[in-house]
Amino acid sequence: HAKNTGRNNYCLFEPGMDAFLEKRRLLEADLGLALEREEFELHFQPRVSVEQSRIISYEALIRWRHPERGLVSPADFIPIAEQGGKIVAIGEWVLRTACLAAQNDFGGARVSVNVSPVQFRQKNFVESVAAILEETGLAPGQLEIEITEGVLIDDDNRAGLILKQFKQLGITIALDDFGTGYSSLGYLSRFPFDTIKIDRSFVRELTSSENARAIINTIVGLGFGLKMKVVAEGVETVEEAAILAMSGCNELQGFLLGRPLPVGEMAPDADREVAAIVAQARDMQAEM
Ligand code: C2E
Ligand code: MG
Ligand code: MG
Ligand code: MG
Repeated sequence: HAKNTGRNNYCLFEPGMDAFLEKRRLLEADLGLALEREEFELHFQPRVSVEQSRIISYEALIRWRHPERGLVSPADFIPIAEQGGKIVAIGEWVLRTACLAAQNDFGGARVSVNVSPVQFRQKNFVESVAAILEETGLAPGQLEIEITEGVLIDDDNRAGLILKQFKQLGITIALDDFGTGYSSLGYLSRFPFDTIKIDRSFVRELTSSENARAIINTIVGLGFGLKMKVVAEGVETVEEAAILAMSGCNELQGFLLGRPLPVGEMAPDADREVAAIVAQARDMQAEM
């Protein structure tokens, strides 16, 4: 134990830290076998068009059904998968499974897939996505790739070239978690995004903070000027939906509109439920 090895120790290995590292080490070992043991699941969360009052897309969100730990959140294992390089194989599984679901089970709605910077930096990433589209038969226009600005940072414009290749294939690109991190406005003008996803942290403060409302209005204006669609993440209440609709936000996503679910558990009348919620938001908007 590092703790007892001498007086110049900086107590790097406190008990809590030990447990953290231990958990990480165990997860890392299990992660290596999770794909072949078929422990991953893909859940899908609706993205709702305000104008059309219906589901126009679903975001694919991975879960790991660990035999002992139960459902593990992507926040807990994606970083580990990124460090070990396993994210590449996992990411391909996500893309293939998402494209198959969109092709067979979405009734024409599109699908969006989160892509890690590590996948993005793979040499033949564009080719592998194209091959998966070919294999599953999904039209490229039905797929959106969600990236965070981590993909764009310290870049010699390689990211820009890759994004352009995706666009040429007909795949659209969303900038996820917008407003967090560094969020340089330069990214918005330099890269050909189709969609901006406003981070949940702003949506959460909408009803209590005038500043958050000002920021949302500004992002929506930016999106309008740049001809990009604006999606709000993490919408949980009708009041938030009403404010977002009023601001001109194009799409809503969040527990209010639907939780992420496996294909088999999606409600057959989800579109009617969603239409009723949007109508409710509009009524509230009229009274604001
Ligand atoms: P994200 O792409 O920003 O996804 C949105 C997260 O917010 C999801 O968490 C979703 O379940 C959650 N969420 C949606 N609506 C609400 C709401 O109304 N309230 C609250 N509190 N949360 C809401 P999740 O599924 O745990 O995923 C977390 C992050 O993990 C994702 O953030 C994404 O960055 C990453 N991730 C998920 N699936 C994948 C994947 O297949 N590949 C990669 N590379 N990353 C993934
Ligand atoms: Mg996302
Ligand atoms: Mg996000
Ligand atoms: Mg996120």
